[in-house]
Amino acid sequence: MVRVSSWGRLGSWEHEVRSLTDRYQVANQLKGSPAGIAYGMGRSYGDVCLNPGGVLWNITGLDRFIGFDQNTGRLACEAGTLLRDIQRLVIPRGWILPVTPGTQQITVGGAIANDVHGKSHHVCGSFGDHLQGITLTRTDGTTIECGPDLLPEWFAATVGGAGLTGVITEAEIKLRRVAGPWLETETLPYTDLDEFFRLADDSESGWEHTVSWIDCVSRGGGRGLFMRGNPTDGEQRPEPQGRKLTMPFVPPISLVNRMTLGLFNMLYFNLKKWRAGKSIVHYESFFYPLDNLLEWNRMYGPKGFFQYQSLVPREVGRDAVQAMLGEIAHAGEGSFLAVLKTFGNRKALGMMSFPRPGVTLTLDFPNQGARTLKLFERLNAIVREAGGRIYLAKDACMPRDLFEAGYPRLAEFLQYRDPGISSALSRRLIGA
Ligand SMILES: Cc1cc2nc3c(=O)[nH]c(=O)nc-3n(C[C@H](O)[C@H](O)[C@H](O)COP(=O)(O)OP(=O)(O)OC[C@H]3O[C@@H](n4cnc5c(N)ncnc54)[C@H](O)[C@@H]3O)c2cc1C
Repeated sequence: MVRVSSWGRLGSWEHEVRSLTDRYQVANQLKGSPAGIAYGMGRSYGDVCLNPGGVLWNITGLDRFIGFDQNTGRLACEAGTLLRDIQRLVIPRGWILPVTPGTQQITVGGAIANDVHGKSHHVCGSFGDHLQGITLTRTDGTTIECGPDLLPEWFAATVGGAGLTGVITEAEIKLRRVAGPWLETETLPYTDLDEFFRLADDSESGWEHTVSWIDCVSRGGGRGLFMRGNPTDGEQRPEPQGRKLTMPFVPPISLVNRMTLGLFNMLYFNLKKWRAGKSIVHYESFFYPLDNLLEWNRMYGPKGFFQYQSLVPREVGRDAVQAMLGEIAHAGEGSFLAVLKTFGNRKALGMMSFPRPGVTLTLDFPNQGARTLKLFERLNAIVREAGGRIYLAKDACMPRDLFEAGYPRLAEFLQYRDPGISSALSRRLIGA
């Protein structure tokens, strides 16, 4: 048994870790196994990738490229392949992954199971929109090939299905043309939510990537930095060679606390505001700034941290976000990693996919036990009232009624569940 945690480091639990390394043997390995769940890079924050006391199928050994057609941009690979390795292979050859999240240290299997989104949602949708097909192995030893045109109901259940329909062993991805690794970007400070929404609307047609950092500690909350970017062929520049730093230890208490937050946010906002404007930026710096500080999650100390990511419909988005910021200020809390982003008017194909039209607010909070959970109760009430949902990839404590209200295709999805698969999240929210 090995102790395993997820990115939030809310605890570490004993698991029997079984490594899957040969895609032709996965069916044999799953058949007859005690109930388990696939584990990729463990970059989910809560309990979606955990199964305390049970089996984890570690899929990072399934990391082979199977085929790449440079003319059509079709890439086939095993499900443990890292998005980082795909980007490094394909970008110099004129292609790019159309959708990647804020870290490239995740597996293709994890990207599919959470149907991850990135800064390009309004143009490209989510990860599942760019899949040509996947191979799914069930714990009864059967294998299902599915895709948008082949057994589409199995495909729709598995994309965003939190790993509960089977273990994905292979995927074929349609890449997007790109001129090179550079983006032309613009950073614009904004003073309140109205200005944020104006910038988001104005940027929707002309900018492929948009995101914003919001300072939820400032008085009144709502000021922030809006960032947008487009790929550019630009001139050839030397690629950044910067050495990555590592957070070397777990401090005895969270370094992110009420005292440090105000200072952090004030310095960050003003420094970025001072350097705002246009620039040419390498894709790794623009898309994955957090990957530059390895193991940054240790900053939150031994109790770990929660990430709370909600999504509310656009019509009520401004008021709901304002109300959430108000609750956070009222509770005397704040978040350094606070991201506000609009999703485009696109319907996700996964039955349990998180993205849908609206606005999503993402916040990190150090784990302060009951105090933090009390704040979440108030935030949940706002999300529930707004008809919104919480992202499963980040969740560790959403109540079941909010889950059921937020994911109306749950009953349909459950028909495709693999009975030999179970996670801490599935037991908490589905009861098995
Ligand atoms: C710094 C940071 C930034 C992030 N930014 C974003 C963002 O912008 N947008 C976003 O959407 N997410 C974001 N995330 C969350 C992250 O993208 C997802 O949690 C992703 O699913 C993690 O992939 P993983 O390989 O680590 O999978 P894990 O976390 O190990 O597992 C995630 C889920 O995938 C399932 N799974 C993994 N492999 C397979 C497989 N082969 N077959 C079946 N199921 C499988 C697991 O069972 C689990 O349910 C971010 C995370 C971090 C740490």
